[in-house]
Amino acid sequence: KETQAEKFLRQHMDPDTSTVTASYCNKMMKHQNIMVGDCKLVNTFIHEPLPDVQAVCFQGNVPCKNTKPNCHKSSSKMRITDCHLKKEAKYPKCEYETQQLRKSIIVTCEGNPYVPVHFNGSV
Ligand code: UDP
Ligand code: UDP
Ligand code: UDP
Repeated sequence: KETQAEKFLRQHMDPDTSTVTASYCNKMMKHQNIMVGDCKLVNTFIHEPLPDVQAVCFQGNVPCKNTKPNCHKSSSKMRITDCHLKKEAKYPKCEYETQQLRKSIIVTCEGNPYVPVHFNGSV
């Protein structure tokens, strides 16, 4: 079974892409198997090396959206792409807007080793 840490990698890591095209999200949301039975509303991909993203678990502690204490905000801005489902999209035609951004990311970390398991947002 896929662990939460593995799921984070599949859904949120894309270190080898630096420039995205307009069709990026449509492709990625399919290829990474992020939709099963439904179109996911928002999904963020991170274009930074994995060690830099794992290191966020040891950077600034911030409250999680669900009020749990184990969220961390990256001390530097990261290259990310937000995929937003288009309003008119209907499963299985999940069409996305692709938006390239540079923002601090907030991840939830768990376990030993203490690694990202959930993408909590960007600021
Ligand atoms: N999600 C979605 N469509 C799916 C599967 C997941 O939109 O087919 C979203 C869901 O809204 C949730 C997030 O992806 O916020 C994480 O998925 P979920 O918690 O269902 O995964 P689990 O860990 O339970 O397998
Ligand atoms: N998500 C994301 N980037 C964002 C915000 C949300 O990838 O900037 C994804 C993330 O996988 C999260 C899911 O969308 O698990 C659901 O978002 P959230 O945790 O905010 O929960 P909601 O209250 O929207 O269901
Ligand atoms: N989780 C958490 N806080 C949240 C949402 C999720 O600690 O607000 C943890 C929870 O243990 C879950 C894991 O993060 O098993 C993965 O969350 P999700 O399936 O939503 O994955 P995401 O789509 O955010 O990567």
